[in-house]
Amino acid sequence: MPESPYPMISIDDALAIIQREVQPLPPIMIPFHAALGLVLAEDVFADEPMPPFAASRVDGFAVMAADGPGPRRLVGDQAAGYMAGIRVEPGAAARITTGAPVPPGADAVVMVEQTEEKGGLAHILSGTIETGANIRPIGEDIEAGQLVLPHGTVLGPAEIGLLGTVGKAQVAAQRRPIVAVMSTGDELVEPGEKLQPGQIRDTNRFTLMAAVQQAGAEPLDLGIVRDKQNDLKATIERSLVEADALLTSGGVSMGQLDLVKPYLAARGVVHFGRVKVKPGKPVTFATVDGKPCFAMPGFPVSALVSFEIFVRPALLKMAGHTRLERPRVKAVLARPVRHDSDRTEFQRVSLTRQADGALTASTTGFQGSGRLLSMVGANGVIVLPHGQGDFEAGAVVEAIILGPIEISGDSHLK
Ligand code: AMP
Ligand code: MG
Repeated sequence: MPESPYPMISIDDALAIIQREVQPLPPIMIPFHAALGLVLAEDVFADEPMPPFAASRVDGFAVMAADGPGPRRLVGDQAAGYMAGIRVEPGAAARITTGAPVPPGADAVVMVEQTEEKGGLAHILSGTIETGANIRPIGEDIEAGQLVLPHGTVLGPAEIGLLGTVGKAQVAAQRRPIVAVMSTGDELVEPGEKLQPGQIRDTNRFTLMAAVQQAGAEPLDLGIVRDKQNDLKATIERSLVEADALLTSGGVSMGQLDLVKPYLAARGVVHFGRVKVKPGKPVTFATVDGKPCFAMPGFPVSALVSFEIFVRPALLKMAGHTRLERPRVKAVLARPVRHDSDRTEFQRVSLTRQADGALTASTTGFQGSGRLLSMVGANGVIVLPHGQGDFEAGAVVEAIILGPIEISGDSHLK
C-alpha cells in the first residue's frame, strides 16, 4: 500500500491552520440596501436626532396642556411632511396627524378619540392633560452623534432600515467571497445527461455551490474537470484569477488519477492533506497565490460534511464574520450508535425537542459516505469524538444544529 505523504492531523489542528491562513477580504463601498447579510466594515453614527423634530404620536389636536379640558378655537391644520406656519396660543388648538411636527406654542396632543368637533370648535373631553402628552420629543429614538451600528454588525432587515434612517446611502461592508467550485472525475456527467456505462451524475458541484451560497458567499461554477493534468491545471489557474477561493471535489484519495493534491502542492503550499475525521479523511487545504484552496473528498456526504467543518467557517471569516461556528447543544441518543474510535465522526441526525424538554438525536439511517440521503432532512450532526467506542441509547453527545429543531407532537400542515 502506498503511504500518503501527508501526516494525519486532528480536526482542531486543521481548523487552527485554516484560521491562521484565511483572512477577511478588504471592504467595499456599496448601496446600503444591497448589503443584506453582509458584515458592516465601519462604525455608523447618526448625524441628526430621530425624530428630528417634536412629532405627534397620534391623530388629534395640538394644545397647551395648562388649558385643561374644554372648548378650543381652531387655528389650522398640521399634517406630516411640512411646517404649516401656525402657532397654538392659550385657548387654541390645531388639528394634527401622526408624525406631524407639533406647532410652536403647543406642548401636548390630545388624541382625536378624546375630542369632539362641534360648532367650529374642538372640545377636549379628556381630564387633565400632561405636558408632553402624545409627543415624541426630538431624539427620543436616536440622539444626534449616537453610534447606531458598530463595525462587525451583520446586516439584517432592521439594520438595513436603520442605515436608511440615518441616511447612510453608501456603506463600507465586507463583500461576499467569490468561490470557484469544480468537480473532478472522468466518470462524471451533467445532471441532464443519460448515463452511459460507468458514468454517474455530478452531485457535489451542486451541493457545494448551494452550501457556498448558504454561507453567504458567491459560487462561480467551473464545471466538471476531467482527470487530466492539463484540464485540471487550466481550471485551477482560472479560479485563481476569477475567484477569492477554490473548492474542488474528488481526486484527493490515493488513486493514480487523484491529481488535485499534487497540482496544489506544485503550485502553492498544501497545509494539510489528511485529517482524523469521518467522513472526509483526505480533505485537503492549500494556499496558492495567497488564496485558500479546499479540496473535498469525492463521496457526496464526505464533500458536504467536510464543507461544513472546514470551509464554512473559512468563508465566514473571509466575509468578516467573527462568529464562525454553528451553535452546539447536548443531545440524548435515541438509539445506540456504532462508532469506530480512530477518527472523530460526524453522523447525520434529526434533532427533536421531546415533551419533557429533552433534546433527542436519531441518526438518519445508513451513514455511508456516498449516501446523500442521510443528509436530506437532517437538522443536525452529532460529534462522536475519537478515542471513544460505540455509544448506548440514552448517552449524551454533542450535536451541531444545522436547521430548525423539530418539536415532538407539533402538528405540521402536511
Ligand atoms: P475520488 O476521490 O475522486 O476517487 O471519488 C470518490 C468517490 O466519489 C467515487 O466513487 C466518485 O465517483 C465519487 N464522486 C466524485 N466526485 C463526485 C461528484 N462530483 N458527484 C458525485 N460523486 C462523486
Ligand atoms: Mg475521482
